[in-house]
Amino acid sequence: MSLPRRRIIRLVATIAIVTVLLGALSFPALERHYMRQQAAQDAVPLKLAVEGLRATVERYAPLPALIAERAPLVGLLNNPNDAGRIAAVNEDLRQTAATVKATDVYLMDISGLTIAAASYRDPGSYLGRNFNYQSYFTQALNGDLSSFSVYGTTTGERGYFYAAPVEDGERIIGVLAIKFNVAAFESIWRGANSEFMVTDRNDFVFMSSRPDWHFRAIRPLSDATLRLIAQNLQYPIDRIDLLPITSTPLNADAQSVYVEGTSRESFVLTSQHLPDLDWTMSALSPRRPATLNALNTLLIAGLSAGLILAALLAYFLKQARQDEAFAKEQDAKRRLEVAVAERTQDLETALGDLRQTQTDLIQAGKLSALGQMSAALSHEFNQPLAAVKSYADNATAFLERDRLSEAQDNIARISKMADRMATISSHLRNFARRPQQATGPLLLNAVVQDALAVIEMRLASEGGEIAYTPPKTEVWVTGGHVRLQQVIVNLINNALDAMEDQAKPVVRIDIDGTTLRVRDTGPGIAPARVANIFDPFFTTKAPGKGLGLGLSISYNIVSDFGGTLSATNHPDGGAIFSVALQPATPVEVAAQ
Ligand code: ADP
Repeated sequence: MSLPRRRIIRLVATIAIVTVLLGALSFPALERHYMRQQAAQDAVPLKLAVEGLRATVERYAPLPALIAERAPLVGLLNNPNDAGRIAAVNEDLRQTAATVKATDVYLMDISGLTIAAASYRDPGSYLGRNFNYQSYFTQALNGDLSSFSVYGTTTGERGYFYAAPVEDGERIIGVLAIKFNVAAFESIWRGANSEFMVTDRNDFVFMSSRPDWHFRAIRPLSDATLRLIAQNLQYPIDRIDLLPITSTPLNADAQSVYVEGTSRESFVLTSQHLPDLDWTMSALSPRRPATLNALNTLLIAGLSAGLILAALLAYFLKQARQDEAFAKEQDAKRRLEVAVAERTQDLETALGDLRQTQTDLIQAGKLSALGQMSAALSHEFNQPLAAVKSYADNATAFLERDRLSEAQDNIARISKMADRMATISSHLRNFARRPQQATGPLLLNAVVQDALAVIEMRLASEGGEIAYTPPKTEVWVTGGHVRLQQVIVNLINNALDAMEDQAKPVVRIDIDGTTLRVRDTGPGIAPARVANIFDPFFTTKAPGKGLGLGLSISYNIVSDFGGTLSATNHPDGGAIFSVALQPATPVEVAAQ
């Protein structure tokens, strides 16, 4: 994958922003998750608190009925003004209260007037007070053996009360009530991690570990409810007020709540309903740990995402760097290619110029050859033509004087001149059309012997000599017999020409492999001429002595055989001409 650096950074930044946004969006859900977890944990202490409350409430429920059965109570109720009985009962009730750790134990007549009380010695004693308005009293008067209710007094003291009827036979003659202080419970709850509160069926907080929540309703109370509370004097009506709680449900038993007060407090609220009492007990644990947990989780997730992003960024940037390097390399390569192409173009242009120059030179060479040929031919033909004219003139003159034999002699000379011109002409014809004769295996020695036979007459007249030792084994080469013989004769003639001024010229011929060499002891070939000797019409010989075609024709013949003809000088002087031929498979001599 390859992306430009800027796009990578933009991409990573986008991912980072999206990650942060996702984190922000998922925070509430995550926090709720931890709040539910917290609620599940809170359920345990809540359950214990509920059990404790219920156990305490139930433990004392049968107590008033038991005490009510005591005979002195009935006696006192039947004789309410008996001071002795009053004192005895008061003391009895005081001891009972001390035993069960009750706030008060007191006896009322059927009008609700308290005629004996455990607190008879205390300044705020119930003694002499009438409680006929209280529900536990009326319920007990109606025969309820374990009436129970909770009250708060004008002083803010809250108590829970049990009551039972005192019967004389079948007749209810009074009510015995026991009061416990609610604050005792609340002191147990204090110090726990959570706040606790108990609400009644009207969502009125009558117990709580938080004193500032006492006597407050967590939802607005209806007028009817408020009237009823006022009527029963159950709670101090002037202290009743609203505890503003806003809540969001987390699950069936838990909510996230805000309690508005001097400052806003956040809690996870877990509650349990006590159906028999129609109370709801709630534990409110601070929301902070759940929030911190959610933040921690997000932080860890964010850090992980950051790490992955950093790794990705590093990877992509490395990739981008590699791509850049590759692109640079490619660019350099392209530039090199362009440079090479330009150079090639230059070279081709130069080569084209060279070819043109070569063509021009060849053209110039042809013209020069043509010039040389014209000069050679005009000389070759002019000389015999001039001779023919003078012989013809002579013949005419002799005929006029009837000197027939002289005339005949001149005419014979004319014929000879014509023959000579015919010979020159045939040379030229041979040069012009190179006969495409077949080549085949030849015995090299046999060709040399035939060439020597041709040259024998000239050797005899000039006193020359051939030094030739035929090869010990048969040497078979590829060529044409007559043409190869013509080449060898030509080379021997040239060698003799080069040694013209020597009294006893010797031409050495030897065969080495399939190469035949002809060596003389003449002046050799001047270095300036080496390049030209094989050109047609190149000659250094006097007019009439050479046409300059011999080596040119020989060169082409050897080439036709697939061989090469070359010239060099011997270190001891003289020229060597080498005819290198292709070897051939021997055939029957008869086929030659
Ligand atoms: P020609 O013999 O008619 O001049 P050739 O083509 O046979 O034509 O030879 C061309 C020239 O090569 C000669 O004129 C001479 O200058 C040179 N040449 C040939 N053979 C020899 C040799 N053996 N030694 C020195 N020069 C030679």
